Amino acid sequence: MFFTEEKIERQLREVRVAIRRGAVDLTHWKFCEADPPGAEHPTFDDEGWDDLALGQEWGGYDVVAWFRTRADVPEEWLGQKLALRFLVGPRDGGGSTAESLLYVNGRPLQGIDVWHEEAVLPPELARERELAIALRAWSGVLHVPDRRRFKAGQLLLLDEPTERFYYLADTILKSVTQLDEHDLRRTRLLAALNDAFHRLNFFKPRSAGFYRSVAEAEAELAAAMAEMGAFPENGPRVTGIGHSHLDMAWLWRLDHTVDKASRTFATVLNLMDQYPEYRFMHSSPQLYKLLAQRYPDLYARVKERIAEGRWEITGGMWVEADTNLTSGESLVRQFLVGKRFFKDEFGVDNKIMWLPDVFGYSAALPQIMKRAGIDYFMTTKLSWNQFNKIPCDTFWWQGIDGSRVFTHFVTTLDIGQSPARFFTTYNGKLHPDSILGAWARYQQKDINNDILISYGYGDGGGGPCRDATLFAAEQASAAGATVVLVAAGGALIVSAGMINRQRRWSTPNNTYRYSEERRWG
Ligand SMILES: [Zn+2]
Repeated sequence: MFFTEEKIERQLREVRVAIRRGAVDLTHWKFCEADPPGAEHPTFDDEGWDDLALGQEWGGYDVVAWFRTRADVPEEWLGQKLALRFLVGPRDGGGSTAESLLYVNGRPLQGIDVWHEEAVLPPELARERELAIALRAWSGVLHVPDRRRFKAGQLLLLDEPTERFYYLADTILKSVTQLDEHDLRRTRLLAALNDAFHRLNFFKPRSAGFYRSVAEAEAELAAAMAEMGAFPENGPRVTGIGHSHLDMAWLWRLDHTVDKASRTFATVLNLMDQYPEYRFMHSSPQLYKLLAQRYPDLYARVKERIAEGRWEITGGMWVEADTNLTSGESLVRQFLVGKRFFKDEFGVDNKIMWLPDVFGYSAALPQIMKRAGIDYFMTTKLSWNQFNKIPCDTFWWQGIDGSRVFTHFVTTLDIGQSPARFFTTYNGKLHPDSILGAWARYQQKDINNDILISYGYGDGGGGPCRDATLFAAEQASAAGATVVLVAAGGALIVSAGMINRQRRWSTPNNTYRYSEERRWG
């Protein structure tokens, strides 16, 4: 087969465009650069606000603005898969994007930013003839352009089989490019993909006949994947969990953090409504407390998902605290107050210290963790040391007094990154190159084949996108390159704890000493 991958890549681009089966521009808006209470409600009186057309400018430094409009849903679209799409304030020559919270008929539906342009409507909203749309946008405080431009507002009709076919085919194609030329899995995956693309009727793209052919190709390709079976048992098992790292204050103020959380969490909740298998985790009781105060509706929905076990709360401490400058007394209280909040609010006894992003880890921590009832520790940041590479990613970390906690480093690489570079990330991407990179970089293959990827936009919120979630679902079924199970991080670390030969890692006086021990049985 010559140029098969190139051909499929081109045709795949056309399939992607065809996911959007119809679009209506939302051209007329009401707009105000202020933050009046109640502006999300459909009945709010915006008569006195300015008119705004698509393409118009707004913004400045640290400005909150509201945009409101009404959308009439075409009769023939009612009850189908609908989405809203916005570009409220893209980078516009600055370094940051305007982050917005989208309300539909008064309900906070999703965060909107450059990575999350589209918000799928839940079925009950997709049956409404008229939608009251309100966006609360924030112009930002980091590398902000003088003015931002409200570029796009659309109501979209999406074609579900085309969307499923696109993500399945895209996942297989990306996996194929990661496999060796002589690998039988590569040959078989590519052949199945090619057969499916032969079914597509490109004579009249985006005609009814085209969409029928895509649905047939999707069913055929999914069946071919199922027939090829799951990955062999002794292969790597990569568990993916949605995440969005959010410092309590960093390049923004604490006041902005809770708004960032509202947008990120609304996005997560909307994804959970669409994909029952989707899992997410987040730390920091302080953040949940702020959310409860300012966004009680969102908080109540988060609480429901936590009770269902789909949203994992973790971390152990009150915030993801620094541990080098902090006193022992303060660290003890981080665990005491943090764990107490999770127990009282959610009935959860936290066992994992999730601390991916601080610049040092006190040798007193294992002792404090153990006494606080924390058995597991996860980080990525130690891999950022440009001089020393710690030779373990799964090991027992032993503290000054001999206390030990079971420790795992997330080894996810950026797309295209060499495993020789030390950097690993908690803002993972579900791309076969990243997933295989995480496995390539992982150093304890001899004793463990379970690794963890936390994926989603972070360092200021954002979270996973719908395409990552679709990708994860397809990746789990794509027989071959890698397997991603969308599951809870906690479950992974517990199962990894069953390995029977562990390495030990101790940190007296912040100098790392390495020893290995064998323990059988
Ligand atoms: Zn951070």
